[in-house]
Amino acid sequence: PSLPASAKVWFITGAASGFGRALVREAVDRGDAVVATARKPESLADLVALAPSRVLALRLDVTQPAQSHAAVTEALSHFGRIDVLVNNAGFSIIGAVEETSDEALRDTLELMFFGAARLTRDVVPHLRERGAGTIVQMSSMAGLNTSPGFSAYCAAKHALEGFSECLAHELRPHGVRVLIVEPGTFRTSLFGDAFRRMPEHPAYASTSGTLRAWVSQADGQQPGDPAKAARVIVDEVARPLRPDAPLRLPLGG
Ligand code: NDP
Repeated sequence: PSLPASAKVWFITGAASGFGRALVREAVDRGDAVVATARKPESLADLVALAPSRVLALRLDVTQPAQSHAAVTEALSHFGRIDVLVNNAGFSIIGAVEETSDEALRDTLELMFFGAARLTRDVVPHLRERGAGTIVQMSSMAGLNTSPGFSAYCAAKHALEGFSECLAHELRPHGVRVLIVEPGTFRTSLFGDAFRRMPEHPAYASTSGTLRAWVSQADGQQPGDPAKAARVIVDEVARPLRPDAPLRLPLGG
């Protein structure tokens, strides 16, 4: 499909729910085009229906390298360009360090670090060649801060932060921006039931009252609205690149 030159082409992982879904809706509302990717592309049907010529739904399990390469190739051949890559797919494993197996650590890093790194590598040459574009890394406040129970999650997000900071140094001279988004607590399905048993484990003895209060809330009661976060992110991406553009975008819940 032919797109106006002013329309951006977004490539978003984990687009079926939470921040990913909110970002698709916001980008489409602004007249942009979106490659919405998910492990189950059928869950994206209502997003495609918003603007069938501007939303391409693709299957992408971010932990599968062949699927990542294929999705980037298909996106480029369909829309002719990618302007914004959003490494959004994520999940959370919560537990004390001695409860966190190698497998849990590997799964977490595989998705939120290696998966994001791989897609970034696939898209960077295209952006650098065009001297434009943005890589949005959905990190977390847990990308810079820590708390008991979050060792796997924090390790993955801290790794993503360091990687992305180096990436920003490499890409800034070429007109490509890296934006590390650091949300607080938002109403998505991310934490599911994982939190409910946290206060019972001795490892959480130092857990603050605030975290306990948050943890004990029913899922979906977290303060932040993902739709509002999506508006802030899309606004930031729409700004012209300037030398003092911030690398990090903290988003309170
Ligand atoms: P959701 O659980 O709503 O969304 C996460 C998405 O990631 C789901 O659509 C899920 O798809 C997808 N996903 C999981 N595994 C894979 C995979 N292997 N390949 C592709 N997609 C996958 O949570 P959020 O919207 O909250 O999470 C989005 C990002 O925001 C994450 O990186 C998270 O760490 C970050 N974040 C969230 C915060 C919050 O408070 N909600 C706070 C700070 C950061 P599926 O349906 O197939 O499982």
